[in-house]
Amino acid sequence: MDLGIKGKRALVCASSKGLGLGCAVALAEAGVDLVMNARGAEALEQSAADIRARFGVEVTAIAADITTEDGRAEVLDAAGALDILVTNAGGPPPGLWSDWDRDDFIAALDANMLTPIALMTRLLPPMMERGWGRVVNITSQSVKAPIPVLGLSNAARTGLTGYVAGTARQVASAGVTINNLLPGIHDTDRAIQLDQGVSRQQNISVEDARSRREATIPARRYGTKEEFGQACAFLCSKHAGFIVGQNLLADGGATVATI
Ligand code: NAP
Repeated sequence: MDLGIKGKRALVCASSKGLGLGCAVALAEAGVDLVMNARGAEALEQSAADIRARFGVEVTAIAADITTEDGRAEVLDAAGALDILVTNAGGPPPGLWSDWDRDDFIAALDANMLTPIALMTRLLPPMMERGWGRVVNITSQSVKAPIPVLGLSNAARTGLTGYVAGTARQVASAGVTINNLLPGIHDTDRAIQLDQGVSRQQNISVEDARSRREATIPARRYGTKEEFGQACAFLCSKHAGFIVGQNLLADGGATVATI
């Protein structure tokens, strides 16, 4: 399918690996020029070079921590005019409700709620002026059904979801859509870290931890960053202009709900 976004320019945050990389690749495949970001320069430059070689699009790579004000300024200054924003950052650590103090919550809110809000605050006005824009926030299935060990993530991402629900409806008339894409378990470094956490907690092997987690998913497998990226690219496409303020689950059916 022609997504109708060839020649557009996208910022994909936290995109040297994992789900962010999946989104960057799918957008590049659709002919979108990219600004990619991650903290570590080496993997970022490697992924940017792979994408340039595969798709021939322009890729600017900015190594910076997107959850800090300085990092965001560096990325946005280098980015120039943007048509598409995909927000993403690392997820908070797992733990128990009794483990966390105020500083832990502030860090999670900064990374997974206030960073995407700051990016939207800066980028929505120029998108609205140009009469076209797409924002996709990578959140988590935990906003639909909380994951007990991810209380920091549950809290921060639900806050972002509430913000998007209101804001998306305020900018839609200017041709700008905001939607959230909710990953269930995907085969990335983050999933491996969580498998290792389950392995330690339950005193089982990492392979057994993965099998147990796969058994909780109706699709009986982890998702891939490639299929996640394609869902993101569709939400960024010209065809998705009437999809506003939605929360699309990509979780292999793991969240049991009628709607
Ligand atoms: P991942 O494989 O660990 O990749 C994370 C990417 O983000 C890397 O490129 C990393 O590069 C970059 N990054 C992390 N923190 C950053 C920061 N502060 N500033 C800039 N870049 C940063 O993780 P993932 O699985 O793709 O997960 C992406 C998001 O989806 C996370 O928030 C995660 O919690 C959420 N999620 C994932 C799953 C899953 O199963 N994979 C499920 C639900 C939700 P550097 O380390 O070099 O910065």
